[in-house]
Amino acid sequence: MMRNEQAIRNLAAKLHGPLLQPGEPGYDDARAVWNAMIDRRPALIVQPQHVADVCAAVNFAREHDQAVAVRAGAHNVAGSGVCDGGVMVDLAAMRGVDVDADAGIARVQGGAQLTDLDGASAAHGLATPGGVVSSTGVGGLALGGGFGWLARKHGLAADNLLSLDLVTADGELVHASGDENPDLFWALRGGGGNFGVVTRFTFQLHPLGHDVLFGPTVYRLEDAPAVLRRYREFCAQAPRECCVWADLLNAPPLPYLPERVHGTPVLSLMQCYSGTDWKEGRRILAGLHNAADPIGDGVAPRPYLEAQQFLDQAYEHGARNYWSTQSYVELPEQAIDTLTGLAAALPAAESDILISQLGGAIDDMAPEATAYPHRGIRFTVTVGARWRESADDARCVAWARDGGAALAAGASGGRYVNFVGEASGSERSAYGLNFERLQDVKRQVDPSNLFRVNQNVVP
Ligand SMILES: Cc1cc2nc3c(=O)[nH]c(=O)nc-3n(C[C@H](O)[C@H](O)[C@H](O)COP(=O)(O)OP(=O)(O)OC[C@H]3O[C@@H](n4cnc5c(N)ncnc54)[C@H](O)[C@@H]3O)c2cc1C
Repeated sequence: MMRNEQAIRNLAAKLHGPLLQPGEPGYDDARAVWNAMIDRRPALIVQPQHVADVCAAVNFAREHDQAVAVRAGAHNVAGSGVCDGGVMVDLAAMRGVDVDADAGIARVQGGAQLTDLDGASAAHGLATPGGVVSSTGVGGLALGGGFGWLARKHGLAADNLLSLDLVTADGELVHASGDENPDLFWALRGGGGNFGVVTRFTFQLHPLGHDVLFGPTVYRLEDAPAVLRRYREFCAQAPRECCVWADLLNAPPLPYLPERVHGTPVLSLMQCYSGTDWKEGRRILAGLHNAADPIGDGVAPRPYLEAQQFLDQAYEHGARNYWSTQSYVELPEQAIDTLTGLAAALPAAESDILISQLGGAIDDMAPEATAYPHRGIRFTVTVGARWRESADDARCVAWARDGGAALAAGASGGRYVNFVGEASGSERSAYGLNFERLQDVKRQVDPSNLFRVNQNVVP
């Protein structure tokens, strides 16, 4: 508990945005994150209006030996946007996006969500790779890597970063790019929130003025092994314009699904074709669907923004969640059987197992070119328990944990930092061969480990 009342009053006097303490109005809303399993109480919550407030918060935390947690979209499943004790920097008021369409770049404030970046970019017929749920924070997503429907075509969100401005542990605003502070620029692209509070991201944008061919095709669970095998073959030769994620879930009550399957386990192939020639896109995607007869199909031309929001409702804030994750160069036979078995035993209505297709442009970079080490990985699987009642905690966590362990055979051993369900313990598998270089950079910019509420690189 922080007791220096005068120092807190001095901090409040410096800030342009609010400073919240336990019991004050707004405090509980600000500390609540996406995952309702996380219930942490920061000693102070600073809600910066601009960079000077961020500097003041960081200086205060350093001078009083308090950890700093940075909250952008609050989506981190391990809860790394919020701390127990310490200073939480809640960037909710810093969500501005400024698109320079002529230069093809977006300057994005540190607290922006994907919806802010996508919306501002789409107004100019432009886009950059993000994730698949629009309320995810650009901050956590891009600092950990960041992949969604466009990553196979244009690389990770982190690969599209041109520069970043951040407030480092000494309270200074620093610019990092290929020319300026290149080691820090390297570390920020995959090294998570370990190096400071990013106040501005500058992204490369790409033309995307046309609709994408997008939506799910849904199969019976009994057909899942055959369809997943076909999916695996398809992914091995799919063009970069195609990205298909496979989701094993309880069927939502969608109009194109027969009522009898609503609420029962199914396999959904979420497809995105971002090329311009839909006839060609339909021809390519048809190759996915010759292993079994689908029970429903929702693929249609849609604006990219609609695709970006398609899954939002399924992943709203406020449920209890626990994830475990594995990555694969190739999806082994055994994993296909294990996945189908896990889907037959989903522990709660909203739980699912999501297979993200990677590869393509993500692999144009070498594993050591940025801090994100998982190049060459074709699939990342997330066993996602999602439930409502605390009485179900142990059962649901056990399903996801055991499921992740059962999927370890044939996996790469690496874990995507943004999908790790535990607050600590996966640092080596998250940063892989880049861990030691990340430690070198950490020793230079944050030797006292002020930024340790994350998959922490201990200096
Ligand atoms: C529903 C859902 C869907 C998702 N979909 C995808 C997906 O499609 N693709 C994908 O790659 N990932 C996805 N993720 C994972 C997501 O990338 C991580 O949860 C990520 O950590 C979220 O970032 P955030 O800013 O929302 O989270 P927060 O909890 O606010 O922050 C997460 C971490 O990032 C750090 N951080 C955030 N902003 C800053 C900043 N400005 N400066 C410094 N540090 C910062 C924080 O300190 C913290 O350690 C998804 C997560 C959820 C819950």
